[in-house]
Amino acid sequence: MGILALGTALLAVAGAMAAEHVIAILGIPFVIIIMLLTVLLSLRLTDRLVEPLNDIEPETPLKNVAFEEIAPLLFKLHQQNEIMRYNTELLAKRQDEFKVITENMTEGLILMDGDMTILSANPSALRQLRAKPGDYSGMNLSALNDSAPLLEIVRSALGGTHRDRVITVSERNYQLLASPVRFGEYIVGCALLTLDVTEKHAAEKLRQEFSANVSHELKTPLTSISGYAEMLTMDMAEPQDVPVFAGKILDEAHHLLEVINDIIKISRLDEGRGEEEFLPVDLLDLARAVAERLRDTAELRDITISVAGQGGVVMGLEPFLREMVFNLCDNAVKYNRPGGFVLITVNPMEDDRVRLIVEDSGIGIPAAEQERVFERFYRGDKSHYRDIDDTGTGLGLAIVKHVARFHQATLQVTSEQGRGSRFEIIFKA
Ligand code: ADP
Repeated sequence: MGILALGTALLAVAGAMAAEHVIAILGIPFVIIIMLLTVLLSLRLTDRLVEPLNDIEPETPLKNVAFEEIAPLLFKLHQQNEIMRYNTELLAKRQDEFKVITENMTEGLILMDGDMTILSANPSALRQLRAKPGDYSGMNLSALNDSAPLLEIVRSALGGTHRDRVITVSERNYQLLASPVRFGEYIVGCALLTLDVTEKHAAEKLRQEFSANVSHELKTPLTSISGYAEMLTMDMAEPQDVPVFAGKILDEAHHLLEVINDIIKISRLDEGRGEEEFLPVDLLDLARAVAERLRDTAELRDITISVAGQGGVVMGLEPFLREMVFNLCDNAVKYNRPGGFVLITVNPMEDDRVRLIVEDSGIGIPAAEQERVFERFYRGDKSHYRDIDDTGTGLGLAIVKHVARFHQATLQVTSEQGRGSRFEIIFKA
């Protein structure tokens, strides 16, 4: 630092003296020497100053604090670096979060700019729109799916109108929601959401069919009740027919009550689980209670009803499970023949699941009907079976199916016409 101090002092002296004084006192040659010396010194000084600045590593400025004078600058640089690092990390974190969320969404999400160029498309969107897996960023939407309705609603959204539409792709229904993305007064892109509404639509259709069937099922007995009642009130019935007509009214009224009760049960199951808590239910105890309830009816028809197995406890709603076992056993007795049997077995399985089987030696279910018997209001053709009580509602097995699904149990039927049927329900562990 000695030479630097000397140079600085000389410069200060030279600066302090007026030029003509210096020339007069020291003479021209000496002044030239001083000036040369000054230039040399300032060059040296600049080099010494710039050298540590050139050595600064922008990533780690504090590593190289050669001069105290530049330490505040280096510290500022370091602080700036830290802020930039924090912001970059935050941005990367946000991007990761967005990726994790969108990749795991069941809904499809596609973000596009104002030219329909894809900015991001999540896996659900690709799956639902039947696009090959891959990165579509930077491509036009039509490269992912070029269906006219899809492009049309996205164009509308880019024109400023929120659009909503259902399309069918490979027999599944998808609801598309296209919304404009605004930046101030400008529309800069479009967000497209795709939702699989196949099950929702099917449930809606089922509900509509159910309502139509309910009306029909209620109208039929009511029509005959009012017909007979009208004849009685208008004195159109012969005295000996009066008790017959009254009996018919009573039968139809009973049937009407049965239908209404079953509809209420189905509706309760449709509403979902609600607040009720699943509790342990001993299926063997339950099967024995149901068998007892049906024993008299079975005996009247000369049918043996018995319960066997090592038992099993499942988590569930006892009234619903009882209804399910009752409906299966009631059918097993009803669609049986004199001298036949009904056997209920409850056994644990190796993987801790529980298997309940209701089998009978009855009339059996034709192969073509086996799929349909669980439909609401479906009733088999009883015309070719004599002695079968034909007062069912067609809702018994629909309730069974519903209760099984409610408890996440699997339900299977095997049956041979003329030999009997076997309903198997497996409850999860
Ligand atoms: P329902 O008994 O009121 O007619 P279900 O829903 O209980 O209605 O049954 C639907 C149909 O399935 C019945 O009409 C009958 O044809 C057939 N079915 C049900 N269980 C049996 C069975 N154990 N054996 C033979 N057929 C049966």
